[in-house]
Amino acid sequence: MTSSEGTGATSMRTGRCGELGVADVGRKVRLCGWVAHRREHGEHLAFVDLRDHSGLVQCVVDGTVDIRSEYVVRIEGTVRRRPEGMENPALSTGEVEVGDCTVEVLNPAEPPPFVVEDRAEVDEAVRLRYRYVDLRRPRLQRNLRLRAAVCGAIRRAMDRQGFCEVETPLLWAPTPEGAREFAVPSRLHQGSFYVLPQSPQLAKQLLMVGGMDRYYQIARCLRDEDLRADRQFEFTQLDMEASFVTRDDVLGFVSEAVLDAAEAVTGERPATIERMSWENAIDRYGTDKPDLRAGPPLADLTGVFDGTAVRAFQAPAVKGLRVEGGGGTSRARLDALTERAKALGAKGLAWFRVVERDGAVALDSPLDRHLGDAERGGLLAAAEAAAGDLVLAVADEHRTSCAVLGQLRLEVAGRPVGEGPHRYVWIVEFPMFDGMDAAGNPVIAHHPFTMPHGDDLDLLTADPLAVRSEAYDLVLNGWELGSGSIRIHRADIQARVFAAMGMTAEEAEARFGFLMGAFRYGAPPHGGFAFGVDRLVAILAGEESIREVIAFPKTQSGADPLTGAPKPVAPSSLAELGIRVVAPAPNPPPGQG
Ligand code: ASP
Repeated sequence: MTSSEGTGATSMRTGRCGELGVADVGRKVRLCGWVAHRREHGEHLAFVDLRDHSGLVQCVVDGTVDIRSEYVVRIEGTVRRRPEGMENPALSTGEVEVGDCTVEVLNPAEPPPFVVEDRAEVDEAVRLRYRYVDLRRPRLQRNLRLRAAVCGAIRRAMDRQGFCEVETPLLWAPTPEGAREFAVPSRLHQGSFYVLPQSPQLAKQLLMVGGMDRYYQIARCLRDEDLRADRQFEFTQLDMEASFVTRDDVLGFVSEAVLDAAEAVTGERPATIERMSWENAIDRYGTDKPDLRAGPPLADLTGVFDGTAVRAFQAPAVKGLRVEGGGGTSRARLDALTERAKALGAKGLAWFRVVERDGAVALDSPLDRHLGDAERGGLLAAAEAAAGDLVLAVADEHRTSCAVLGQLRLEVAGRPVGEGPHRYVWIVEFPMFDGMDAAGNPVIAHHPFTMPHGDDLDLLTADPLAVRSEAYDLVLNGWELGSGSIRIHRADIQARVFAAMGMTAEEAEARFGFLMGAFRYGAPPHGGFAFGVDRLVAILAGEESIREVIAFPKTQSGADPLTGAPKPVAPSSLAELGIRVVAPAPNPPPGQG
């Protein structure tokens, strides 16, 4: 018995359906698959489109056959050219057909819950309920195979760079990376819980202390967070860590893996990934996840309106957004954009339609008559605007002006995330903290194992929001692909960061004593990164949701319509775990409460 990967031949079939062509004419073939369509021509002829994962081929059967859609069959026949004029250019096998067929039913099937075609619009809950049928569609076949190609390329890139694949535990202890965790009750230690890892963060750092030098894993991570297009409870990351490295080494290793993966599926190697400081990203795009495809960056008009008499522009920062070719934007649309800007936190939105008047470039705007010539010229120059464009402006605190216009930039010129081109960018030099929480403690921006910038250690308590960190992100088309950092490898610095976050020494010891203990036994300087494989695959596949590149995803509400999970467990299992479920309060009878 042989089974050849190259041709798809097995003991049951000679090869795959979708790969037959004129070179096979005259060949006797045996094919296995699902009945995609069946058309009868009178009593003496039936056309059966046979489908497997590689595509469709038309089979011609003399006489009638008792088969229906999605029956699993084996068809034997001879490849021949289709009669002239009957070719189907939409099919990879459209120049040929299999003639003189005999059909053997391997397994009959009930009528499918929906047609197995990409074109069919099917409710997602139904697709997930019958995912095994949905998976037969070409789109999911292509996406899952593309995903495998991406993972293969990542593995090869990491192996080539001397990384060693190590598996880390799924039953683990809490790690604070900002997300809610899934708890797993322990039977042997009743009342105690493992948690499923948000990421292998601490395990990979301990591997560095253990001298592994360069670790990677295509790791499943679990976070109990609300689900979105780019978020599932469980997701897959390329997780890596390396010793004796600086930021640039890590960026180099990860770039290699990402570019290899992109090349493996698109056939083209993207250009070297550019870098942008966090400050620059906020200033130019209003976000640390800039979508470089969505038109030009924000212009800084603060200098133009320095000392202006125009009230609306008397603010710490005036930012401008050029909308190329937006000069014809209607008044109603501009009013809607103004409302949107206000909803996003701005006091208002100034707009300038750039027009040609008497052979010169002029501004069409209610504010125009209040502007001086220098302001008019300065605005046009700073925004690099030409006749036919629209310029939007917001004046406010720097963060607000940038954030509001950055969001409007996406709303006027944004494109679906999966649409090309693919614009990667590294965001570097993140601040250590994001802001303050209700208790007055600084909120960590990445995670507490990130090394603060060496010059800023003394600011940890004095002025935490001014502390820079050694963290970096990778962004693709406005989606955060992943993050990483150079880590703290000294127990004293780790203790200072925990303290700055408002953690008492006892709390830090109880939660992370094992990590700080390891740091006392010879921890090398180290750093790493993790990027979302689901997100990268979705974008490379041109999809808008990671659910399209995951074999068995959960719905938006976290349910699995196929298995019915999550479900209650048997009382006997609960007893074994020492768990009593506090039943949710019953719904009040109608008319009350
Ligand atoms: N553990 C981090 C995360 O999952 C990534 C890293 O710092 O390596 O986001």
